[in-house]
Amino acid sequence: MPVSENNSPVVTIVGGGPAGLIAAWVIARHGVKVDIYDGQPTMGRKFLMAGRGGLNLTHSETIERFLGRYGGASDWLSPMVDAFGPDHLRQFVHDLGQETFVGTSGRVFPRCFKASPLLRVWLKRLVDMGVTFHPRHRWIGGDQQSGMKFEHGGGVKTVTTDNVLLCLGGGSWPRLGSDGGWVTPLRLAGVPIAPLVASNCAVNVDWTEHMCSRFAGMPLKRIGLGLAGARIRSEVVITSAGLEGTGIYALSSEIRNQLDKDGVAILEIDLVPDRSIDDLEHILAEDRRKKSLSTFLTRRLKLSPQAIALAHEGYSAALGQVNAKQLAHCLKLIPVTITGLANMDRAISTAGGIMRNGVDDQLMLHALPGVFVAGEMLDYDAPTGGYLLQAAFSTGCWAAHGIIARMRGGSSPLNLGA
Ligand SMILES: Cc1cc2nc3c(=O)[nH]c(=O)nc-3n(C[C@H](O)[C@H](O)[C@H](O)COP(=O)(O)OP(=O)(O)OC[C@H]3O[C@@H](n4cnc5c(N)ncnc54)[C@H](O)[C@@H]3O)c2cc1C
Repeated sequence: MPVSENNSPVVTIVGGGPAGLIAAWVIARHGVKVDIYDGQPTMGRKFLMAGRGGLNLTHSETIERFLGRYGGASDWLSPMVDAFGPDHLRQFVHDLGQETFVGTSGRVFPRCFKASPLLRVWLKRLVDMGVTFHPRHRWIGGDQQSGMKFEHGGGVKTVTTDNVLLCLGGGSWPRLGSDGGWVTPLRLAGVPIAPLVASNCAVNVDWTEHMCSRFAGMPLKRIGLGLAGARIRSEVVITSAGLEGTGIYALSSEIRNQLDKDGVAILEIDLVPDRSIDDLEHILAEDRRKKSLSTFLTRRLKLSPQAIALAHEGYSAALGQVNAKQLAHCLKLIPVTITGLANMDRAISTAGGIMRNGVDDQLMLHALPGVFVAGEMLDYDAPTGGYLLQAAFSTGCWAAHGIIARMRGGSSPLNLGA
């Protein structure tokens, strides 16, 4: 077993994403030596990618609403988010010298919007705390008893340790390091794992050529979206292959379930969510004064060209021939047939992973005592909005504390905040 200079044990963390790095911070603060291994040449590559469009760290809504975003996993994550939640995360970021702000939607971002300044200071802080980084070490199996096996420098290196935390991420964007390669060795070891599936990803729609060539890349803003009983107001972007964007990501699990059940999922789009059918019928019954339907819809209802095209796509020629009442119903419910999910490689996250019955209440694997797990490897799912990163941070802190408690043979204090 490797020991630090003062002969205390070393904790081995594999995976230098947000879950692994926050765990290193918690453990090192307890004066314990930490080694972090990662298959990539540098740490936090997906975290950096997450920051490219604005790093949405967490969300400022009430904790009840916040936890509800994790669906069936909310009661599992509840004590972990309670112990290191959105306020703790903001405090942690502030302590690293980065300010945060709450956007109009309630989402929380670093003031500079990007991940790179935060990651840079965070890594430096960890080095100052004595954490050692081992890049280009890809874990291929083994545990603290048999030795951790890493592909490194063209060969296989075995590392012995007595405390292990795996934070290997999900299976999307494999070129950034998280390729789901851990599923096979852990399954062979008897860990129950739900198959990794794309989440927060684009969906496929068989658009007409006209829709693809004219409107790909254009947004549909301030629309209503409905699927399988779920109703939200959001926005989406039309792509040549289908749809993507916040509204689609928010309905990820409903879309996935519907596709699993029926092979297709029918998304219902409301182009005028702020108007009732009666209100709309009243407007649509007005004299158009020889204006075409499209011109009338643009001027009177402020519908964008792509919104009008979508209505034509949904109802084709029929749209010009229906009465005001029928037209009102059409604009409030345009059926869009989703034929599948886009490839997992470009998904923002994956659902599935290590199941709740595979770990104890401190996130230690039943099948491999001494091996803890955290982050997107776990079987939770959430929409975008800061919930994914918050879960990685909360579970990383929780598992780190589980390790400390195990090393000390004691129990874990409930508040892990900064
Ligand atoms: C484009 C994009 C935008 C996103 N935007 C947001 C956002 O704004 N807000 C939000 O909340 N979430 C966002 N996410 C999701 C968020 O980035 C992830 O949920 C989060 O990074 C998961 O953290 P993690 O530490 O569990 O895993 P990861 O960040 O995936 O880190 C896992 C680490 O493990 C390493 N690793 C994997 N396998 C091995 C192995 N076998 N051996 C050694 N090392 C290995 C990887 O190299 C990686 O460094 C976004 C994701 C993407 C792709």
